[in-house]
Amino acid sequence: MDEPGTGIDLGKSAYTCGVLQFLEGRKGITQYRALRGPEYMRALRKLVDSLGVTVLDHSPALELLQNSDGLVSGARGIRRQKGGDWQVHAGAVVLATGGTSFLSRPLGSHTNTGDGYIMAAEAGAELSGMEFTSYYTVAPVHSTMTRSMSYAFATYYDEDGAVIPMPSGPDTMRPLARAMLKGRVFCDLHRTPEDIRAKVPVISPNFMLPFRRWGIDPYNDRFEVTLHGEGTIRGIGGLRIVGGDCRTSVPGLFASGDAATRELVAGAISGGGNINSAWAVSSGQWAGQGAARYAKEHKAISGGQPIGQAGLRPSAAANNVDLAATLSAIQNEVLPYDKNIFRSGERLEQSRTILEGVWTEFRSHAAGSSGTCLRTRETAAMLATARWCVASALARDESRGMHQREDRPEIDPHFNRRIIVGGLGKVWTGRDHEPRLELAS
Ligand SMILES: Cc1cc2nc3c(=O)[nH]c(=O)nc-3n(C[C@H](O)[C@H](O)[C@H](O)COP(=O)(O)OP(=O)(O)OC[C@H]3O[C@@H](n4cnc5c(N)ncnc54)[C@H](O)[C@@H]3O)c2cc1C
Repeated sequence: MDEPGTGIDLGKSAYTCGVLQFLEGRKGITQYRALRGPEYMRALRKLVDSLGVTVLDHSPALELLQNSDGLVSGARGIRRQKGGDWQVHAGAVVLATGGTSFLSRPLGSHTNTGDGYIMAAEAGAELSGMEFTSYYTVAPVHSTMTRSMSYAFATYYDEDGAVIPMPSGPDTMRPLARAMLKGRVFCDLHRTPEDIRAKVPVISPNFMLPFRRWGIDPYNDRFEVTLHGEGTIRGIGGLRIVGGDCRTSVPGLFASGDAATRELVAGAISGGGNINSAWAVSSGQWAGQGAARYAKEHKAISGGQPIGQAGLRPSAAANNVDLAATLSAIQNEVLPYDKNIFRSGERLEQSRTILEGVWTEFRSHAAGSSGTCLRTRETAAMLATARWCVASALARDESRGMHQREDRPEIDPHFNRRIIVGGLGKVWTGRDHEPRLELAS
């Protein structure tokens, strides 16, 4: 089957060494570029099917299993379409559950609720770089279309039609957010060169869809835009990696992709635009190999017990907790531009106090029933993640990369360290004094 425009014949997908390496082009030439998510997902699916792997589709994991020695030894979850649940005992587990944008509606992120972070933290894992979660992507209002390439040619206008000056270079997020705090912002793409316009349907096939639906020609008409918070998706925080095989600090538990910190490859800036997906594919291989080796060395482990807490096993009497209200409370602390892009110690302290109150109530009483079990657990994950983000942003008492504190506008060399965070009942932060960890080989 030919994918229009990519020149890649997916019917001839090829793999080497048991991992996705490339898609072979029509003329037998290996393509190392122009791979989009759906293409490599399809290729990976073919690979696992060909290896006889059992895939449980639509079966989210809710919690990990851990044995009395602290080894992670499996996971448990539900089967959304078939009904019932599943439990797997395993010699090692790789968390590849992606990141979270706190359901701020960037494209394709509806199932990204940070579940892997809470599952790992319950097993004792640490997270790192959670302060680097203040990246936002522009999109037309009322849409999830966060395909940002075309906005390199955008002209922005305020409500009176005056052009909003933008600095040269790609970093338009902060000036746009400042303008949006004052009023509505509009945009057109009239500066887009003709050859780029011709290629947009190939590079970003879905980009024009909402405009077509609305009868808007984005190259000539003005349309209103917004900024979607990306949390740890185009941000870079995640589970701390302590070895070249992507192991976490908990034995038997590995992490890859957006579930893991991307500080190791992106530093303090966004990994969106290429780094994050390169990391997802590479770290998936390293974590998979690491987990397989670990399981072989430690033999199959049984006797693990489910360890999920918040949203699954309340610490006090189960009550009806309003999930929508809880989500709003979380979003209200981690998404508004004046709290998360233009940060200050004072506002972060206020957010911390509010989130701690929400957590205490949620942890005590939230327990989903059969219909709400998944959303309850996802809400627990987003709430815990919000607490770690705010705690890390407070701990990094300086400005660096995407983490910008208005009350601490300079880089402080004392913070040439990673901020490590963890804990559920009580959130803690610390600094990484380990020798530099080199992952790439
Ligand atoms: C609109 C958009 C555009 C992007 N563009 C780029 C780009 O151009 N270049 C780039 O480098 N990066 C880009 N990124 C980032 C890139 O998509 C991610 O870095 C990459 O998808 C991460 O892969 P992943 O497998 O770790 O996570 P994901 O692709 O998010 O996959 C995680 C999977 O885990 C599943 N899951 C979640 N919770 C559970 C659970 N409890 N149990 C079981 N499964 C679960 C989810 O349903 C999902 O299928 C973009 C992101 C977005 C949102």
